[in-house]
Amino acid sequence: MTIIRTVKKMHQSVRKIAGEGKTIGLVPTMGFLHEGHLALIRRAKRLADVVIVSIFVNPTQFAPHEDFNRYPRDEKGDIKKIKEVGGDIVFIPAKAEIYPDHFQTFVAVEKLTQTLEGAMRPTHFRGVTTIVAKLFNITRPDVAIFGMKDYQQAMVLKQMTFDLGYPIKFIIAPTVREKDGLAMSSRNKYFTAAQRKEALCLYYALKKAKAMVTKEKIRDCRKIEKEMKAIIKKVCPSAAIDYIAFTDFTTLTPLKKVASETVCSLAVRVHKVRLIDNMKLL
Ligand code: AMP
Repeated sequence: MTIIRTVKKMHQSVRKIAGEGKTIGLVPTMGFLHEGHLALIRRAKRLADVVIVSIFVNPTQFAPHEDFNRYPRDEKGDIKKIKEVGGDIVFIPAKAEIYPDHFQTFVAVEKLTQTLEGAMRPTHFRGVTTIVAKLFNITRPDVAIFGMKDYQQAMVLKQMTFDLGYPIKFIIAPTVREKDGLAMSSRNKYFTAAQRKEALCLYYALKKAKAMVTKEKIRDCRKIEKEMKAIIKKVCPSAAIDYIAFTDFTTLTPLKKVASETVCSLAVRVHKVRLIDNMKLL
């Protein structure tokens, strides 16, 4: 496994790989890797000859009041894990490699970024699309793998890939959960054991929503939302709900009634840690 830290070396490396007729799979991450990330790497290995994993805590997707500085980092541990699952190249650029002085060019997807996370975090997706466009340009992948855990992010990036004409197969992999259902996230590290139990409120609420739709045949989103709110309050009394949304899977259009391809997404602040999760209801 090779560790590359500069854009120049990465360019040289991908040119060589392509010259040998091999395909490249890219898994972009912000590090502090867990099983969710490793599942994406394993998937990439099945789809491409050479797998590149990038680790970069991208400052432009964090607002000034967000957790950029305290975002967990573990470069050594990450490298070990990537090696264990068979990643071929780890790309770990310094900030100045990605955002040199006088950097002033951003990529923005317009409509899909207006709702859900985009409505709460107005500059977030511009940072995400910019870093991923840069990573696409630097690593020239044939296939790129993203997680459903960040559902809106995946749809926004898929749109960007299409709109900018990148010749990249875009894969969205399922959310990996802990045994008790908590969606794996680098931010789970912030919790004490007791707080972590309360963090399950998102999963319990989603599970209830799914059961109401599939077992009780309820379609009214407001009715489902009411039940979800009650569960969240019960499991985590201090929780602050940023949103609970029901949208069409592809267009992210808000829905009043659950129809085929409806995704329920939610963002909840649990002991000051902002968590997101989602589930397809039908
Ligand atoms: P992050 O390091 O949080 O930016 O995530 C890097 C990639 O891993 C993104 O495509 C995420 O959607 C994906 N990811 C994060 N958590 C999970 C999870 N629990 N299951 C599957 N994919 C995930």
